[in-house]
Amino acid sequence: MITRDDIRELANFHSPEACAVTFYYQPPTPLNKSHREESIRVKDLVRNALREAEKKGKNGGARPDLDRINAMAETLRATGQKAKAIFACSKEGFWREFDVPAQLPKSNLLLNQRFHLKPLAAVLDGVQHFCVLLADRAKARIFEIVNGEISEKLDFVNGLTRRGKSAGWQGYDAGHVERRQTNEAIQHFKAVADYIEQYFERGHCDRLLVGCHDDIWPEIHQQLHSNAKQKLVGHFRIDPKSATAEQIKQMASEMLREFNARQKDALIQEVIGEAHGNGRGAIGLRRVLRSLEVGEVQTLLLGSNFQAPGVKCYHCGHMDMHSAPNCAVCGKENTELEDIGDGIVGHALRNNIEIVYIGDDHDEFDKIGRIAALLRFRADQNTPMKVAS
Ligand SMILES: [Zn+2]
Repeated sequence: MITRDDIRELANFHSPEACAVTFYYQPPTPLNKSHREESIRVKDLVRNALREAEKKGKNGGARPDLDRINAMAETLRATGQKAKAIFACSKEGFWREFDVPAQLPKSNLLLNQRFHLKPLAAVLDGVQHFCVLLADRAKARIFEIVNGEISEKLDFVNGLTRRGKSAGWQGYDAGHVERRQTNEAIQHFKAVADYIEQYFERGHCDRLLVGCHDDIWPEIHQQLHSNAKQKLVGHFRIDPKSATAEQIKQMASEMLREFNARQKDALIQEVIGEAHGNGRGAIGLRRVLRSLEVGEVQTLLLGSNFQAPGVKCYHCGHMDMHSAPNCAVCGKENTELEDIGDGIVGHALRNNIEIVYIGDDHDEFDKIGRIAALLRFRADQNTPMKVAS
């Protein structure tokens, strides 16, 4: 599986001779296309890319990679319903091949100075690595969910509590036992919280969800440490002892989906509010491009259906939504981009700008042009007076 480090490496790759090959393979749904049709389609993509490269007199550099992809056309379908992403530049001895979830918009083959990462980054945005804790006063189970697969990582029973089960001599010290059981439950939740905290310190998981009975939740929540609280999505009602992995996966995934949607919605409202108040918000392609160029952007919001043609100057990095042969900033030759979104995503990845993808069913986001940004500051307001206030 591709990692964030892989993506950063890809984003930083640069081929001045425009020999960077990006190949996306999205398998067809079994019913609507035959294997043969699909391999013909891949070969067509290769042929077109070769023709384009020849036109620009650059086929020499990309040819070995395109031939290799062409040879793969027959076998791609045999890899099952997995989508594939290949990034190659034979001139630099660079070849990276990844299996990705089959959610790419289409198969595509592109040749440029940079790799085209927008489809890949969008697919990965939906992939989260999260942790689910199920607990009651005596038991705790920890699950990890990655890529829609759930696995149980830990199942432990509080040994202390088992000893505390007896109510003593004819219930004589029942009150004492109850107090002791409460204390033991607290110790149990503390131990669980310590374990969870280590989990998040190791940095594998993005989110924490807790499944428990409602009356237990405040006791668990009270013991959680800072990392776990920061990553916490919330709790859902489930019986920790009898819950099956499938039930846990369904409930946790649904809760996380709703949580993400709420967060994205709040972010859109914040950006729109800030933009209208002349504050830390930029909406629409023109304004976002300017904010990216002056380094104002903290978080980029990009519609998964965003697409717009544009140009990019690989000399100074300037991007423009208007087609022109030469760069408006440095005068060097511009490169046409089928989708300026690719240039924007690459820029964001290289500059550690957080990218948030917005699903294609958000009317309000559609209205503002499917692209927006939350800014760290506004360059035009960075006067001493503003800074002081
Ligand atoms: Zn330029």
